[in-house]
Amino acid sequence: MLKMIVCTDANNGIGKDNKLPWNIKSEMEHFKSTTSGHTVVMGRKTFESIGRLLPNRKNIIFSNTLQQIEGATVTNDINIVLNLAKNEDVFIIGGKAIYKLFEPYYDELLISRLPNSYECDTTLNLNMNFFNLINTKDCNEFKIETYSSYKDKILFSKPCVDSLKSKMIAEKEQLEHKYHIKPKLAIIQVGNDYGSSVYVNNKSKLGKELGIDVDLIKLEDTITQTDLVNKIQELNKDQNVHGILIQKPLPKHIDEHVINLTVSPNKDTDCFHPLNVGNLWTGNINDNSLIPCTPYGVIKLLQFYGVELESKDVVIIGRSNIVAKPLAALMLLNNATVKITHSKTKDLAEKCKKADIIVSAVGKANFINESFVKDGQIIVDVGINRNEAGKVCGDVDFNNLIKKDLKITPVPFGIGPMTLIMLFHNLLICYKNALSNH
Ligand code: NAD
Repeated sequence: MLKMIVCTDANNGIGKDNKLPWNIKSEMEHFKSTTSGHTVVMGRKTFESIGRLLPNRKNIIFSNTLQQIEGATVTNDINIVLNLAKNEDVFIIGGKAIYKLFEPYYDELLISRLPNSYECDTTLNLNMNFFNLINTKDCNEFKIETYSSYKDKILFSKPCVDSLKSKMIAEKEQLEHKYHIKPKLAIIQVGNDYGSSVYVNNKSKLGKELGIDVDLIKLEDTITQTDLVNKIQELNKDQNVHGILIQKPLPKHIDEHVINLTVSPNKDTDCFHPLNVGNLWTGNINDNSLIPCTPYGVIKLLQFYGVELESKDVVIIGRSNIVAKPLAALMLLNNATVKITHSKTKDLAEKCKKADIIVSAVGKANFINESFVKDGQIIVDVGINRNEAGKVCGDVDFNNLIKKDLKITPVPFGIGPMTLIMLFHNLLICYKNALSNH
């Protein structure tokens, strides 16, 4: 075990825009007192943002230019640090580049964070994805956990998404080359709901990454149902548009059922049209069928991690048309035994405890706690909530449950990105189906 301590904070440990990794002054103070007398390793940019060396420490600065800095060792040789770390505590602070440098040694590291941030709760690092940290209520106590003890338990979506992405890009390019037609998704956003804008932007961003055109049509929230229906019908007829997505929620005066019926079933990327829903429930589906994005994402992720569904007992918590019901249909098609549960279900925790797989789509932070689980289960966390500190979290009490013998999809970095990629998977199905009729 190397005695290196990677110092990070709730802000992902990454110094953004040349800022220190800590935005809370007391954390910086704590860092100074904890590291006094030790070796501190920083990246060049972190050093520049501090603007000076930290006194009473051996400062090692990583820099490709090797430009001399008085009072510091400037190096680009990681072995200098590794040798030191065999015998003494080495604190590493820095941005993405410096953490990346130590990536091959993550499993040998003691990993920690400065524990006195009041925001301190589980931090899954966006850029490193290599550790999970536990809640430290006591400011003076360093809690250290190596990620390696957790990493096989967390079903991150990134590797699955990456593999889907490259397959989709290859297929899209092949079809574009053959037909000289680009796939296009049209998104209608009614009103200016903040959450909807975030989702819509994420969709546009991913479309760009995949080389798929995304047209965003923003409409006033005062639009009449008839005008909205007319707009959708216009898109139904437009041969350059292959998929149509109506961002929810819609204003109260608009009847969602009417809208779901209006979107052409052939362009129904969300799969809300009753024809597509019916096809799913009657098993009338094949590789070119549209399937609701979140449930499809759940199944794809479980399959990616080699989770067998046949004969498994699955408890789904929630009964929505967007997640729970279509997921139940998909689970049945995969030969699982499914229980759909909800707010009026009795003895829910007991039912969950007996399951092999629990899927939570409730929308309440820390809803799934120890009383719901037993060893060996797989927990799929579909919920998207904010915890008391305002951070995105799922329905699962992740900090505590990850210590058990369970596999859990994290939030963020779990089902959310799966939903997004499956949207474009559906769009490409619409595109392919349209081309085959060309
Ligand atoms: P919803 O919000 O329409 O309904 C919540 C469900 O939870 C209801 O069916 C209700 O019966 C059930 N419920 C509420 N309290 C309960 C309790 N105490 N015990 C048992 N069941 C209870 O459902 P939804 O639209 O599927 O959304 C659920 C969550 O999933 C939300 O947090 C939502 O943001 C999230 N979501 C995430 C994604 C994703 O891509 N990750 C996609 C869709 C929805």
